[in-house]
Amino acid sequence: MANVAGRATLIATWGDELTGHDLEAASKGVLPADPRAALERWDEVRTWAASAELGTPTSIDREQLGPPSPRPQQIVAIGLNYSDHATEAGFAVPDTLPPTFTKFVTSLAGPDEVVTLPRDGHTDWEVELVAVIGRAARHVGPDQAWSHVAGVTVGQDLSERISQMAGPAPQFSLGKSFPRFAPTGPWLVTPDELDDPDDLELGARIDGEVVQRDRTSRLIFPVAQLVAHLSEVLTLLPGDLLFTGTPAGVGMGREPARYLAPGETLVSWIEGVGEIRQTFVAG
Ligand code: ZN
Repeated sequence: MANVAGRATLIATWGDELTGHDLEAASKGVLPADPRAALERWDEVRTWAASAELGTPTSIDREQLGPPSPRPQQIVAIGLNYSDHATEAGFAVPDTLPPTFTKFVTSLAGPDEVVTLPRDGHTDWEVELVAVIGRAARHVGPDQAWSHVAGVTVGQDLSERISQMAGPAPQFSLGKSFPRFAPTGPWLVTPDELDDPDDLELGARIDGEVVQRDRTSRLIFPVAQLVAHLSEVLTLLPGDLLFTGTPAGVGMGREPARYLAPGETLVSWIEGVGEIRQTFVAG
């Protein structure tokens, strides 16, 4: 499911031609146009879509894509969830709950947007698998956790390292919440569309140079375990986003360190899901 100009749209084809079905129109008004409302009625959407006669899809202009979940009530993000990344970042590899923070919702953006680099900042890249909640989760066990996930999408946990690391304790939530620092998309892919939703290649490249490439099977805490852990504290709500952590290869861990520069293009991909693309301008 994609967010096409604010309307929930079931993607029919992607690759050579992007086409889809407007959810409200295709369901003759039974299901909502608003993507968040669709996520709140996800079981109904799935049941309907499984047997619907969808007809001929219409073509979609990729520039109209917004964040697949445009108004999450919570964005939960996980740090240090790949051991190579924890090491490059200079932290211990977590053996209990990994560090958890938020990206404030005003940082949310669609898949292909221009991002303004904070002035005098060091803005870094972090490709991440993002799980989108489709059914409220509270005290959910790992065996049931995937059934609370509507789908997965590609995310970038853009991070301004100076403000992130300033002060006596790191300010993860602030350093990662500048406007458009949480791009997501291009759409949400339901777990059943993937051969193994726990083993997907993900990566990022800057102006064509691959800077990160790994597999989600190397997550220390995989999606199901994260949902289970988090649901012991929080109530996860339909539409909520869970950034699951980034693999090694970020700019901060390089010798010398490297950060995003005006004019550069960052492309992030996940196998079987798609790619998102940010370009950067000076603040
Ligand atoms: Zn991250």
